[in-house]
Amino acid sequence: MNYLEKMYITLSESLGIYTVDQLYELFTKRHHSMPITRHRAAIMQSRVFFFCVVFAVIVPTWSVVDLLFLPGDLWSELLSIRLLSAAAFALLAWQSRKEPDLKRARLLLAGMLAVTPLFYVVSDHWINAYELNGTELVVAELYALLPFVMVAGLTLFPLTLVEFLAYAIPMLLVAVFTAIPETNSEIPQAVSTIWLFILILGVALFSSLSQLRYMLSQASHASYDVLTGMLTRRAGIEMLDLQFRLAMMSEGSLSILYFDLDNFKAVNDTYGHEAGDAVLKFASEQICMAVRKGDSVIRWGGEEFIVILPTADPDEANDVITRIMRVGLGSRPDGAPVTASIGVAEAQADAINDWKSMVELADHRMYTAKTNGRARSIGVSGEPLLWLGEEETELV
Ligand code: GH3
Ligand code: MG
Ligand code: MG
Repeated sequence: MNYLEKMYITLSESLGIYTVDQLYELFTKRHHSMPITRHRAAIMQSRVFFFCVVFAVIVPTWSVVDLLFLPGDLWSELLSIRLLSAAAFALLAWQSRKEPDLKRARLLLAGMLAVTPLFYVVSDHWINAYELNGTELVVAELYALLPFVMVAGLTLFPLTLVEFLAYAIPMLLVAVFTAIPETNSEIPQAVSTIWLFILILGVALFSSLSQLRYMLSQASHASYDVLTGMLTRRAGIEMLDLQFRLAMMSEGSLSILYFDLDNFKAVNDTYGHEAGDAVLKFASEQICMAVRKGDSVIRWGGEEFIVILPTADPDEANDVITRIMRVGLGSRPDGAPVTASIGVAEAQADAINDWKSMVELADHRMYTAKTNGRARSIGVSGEPLLWLGEEETELV
């Protein structure tokens, strides 16, 4: 293994990256789930709020120091931009209290990061117009630290690599632009300033990415069932709620399938809990493989699953069920096929007003499928779809 490979492995381990997917998730938000994006927006907005409130207070208060140590004319010039900046921070803080939304969070962060460098560029221009000495110079030089404070502020935000670069590159350009030396003797100072800036950017990048990684792994622990890898009931409810609202907005179709495995308890009772677990895991994987990428499979309860089929009308829902019945849900330890009773509900055809009623209706139809002989699906039309090889029966 060469040196570069070792470096890569150490870095990826320290960021908790073990698969290629985990690496992609750090690049862009494209593969992030809807709940994660919303959670991240909420965190970003709450941190923008905190930062902006603190700065809205500190920035004008600092003019006391300016008053004590800087020439009067310069003080009043600086006071005007201090008040402007404080107003800008207050505005950003107020906006960040709004409903979490990633676009809003990104814009607010951009705004927050832009205020200080702008303040710095203007104040630098004014300060340079004065011949300062002694204490005045020390106080004035504190202004040169402002861009560093903002870069350090980036460490507070869980950002993707693309987002981080979108914020960091303009900041770096401002730092380079303002550090450009006028005389040869200022070159070492400029180089070390930019070098320090890049080092802090590196630390901020690491911090942002590791926060994002941590957030993604926390979310995946809470969102996916350990045994089957399907969505947990909690995450599933969020998805049902979201898909239902989307369907209502677009007046489009939305189907759900409620699965309950048939006579599953007998597998546990006869062959033990571990055999039951294996049957459950395989059956859920079969369901998952038969549905599209945008569909969701939720482990709703012990041996019950809900499948969400966005945009699917009752016929398309039946097509999915037929496909699942054809590939099957695996076998029991004695070789008999695993079957399920399935209830279907569709938002438009069933004229449903909320996701809870939709689940209740699908559950009710699943129960009808059970009492009518199991191994079948009952859909919107009430006509049963039978599992391959099953006879039409009317027993309990
Ligand atoms: P029916 O056809 O009427 O649905 O019969 P059933 O035996 O499937 O229904 P019942 O609700 O009586 O049994 C469900 C069983 O699922 C009971 C429970 O022990 C088992 N179960 C629930 N969660 C798990 C799990 O995680 N692993 C295993 N092995 N069994 C589980
Ligand atoms: Mg059950
Ligand atoms: Mg069952």
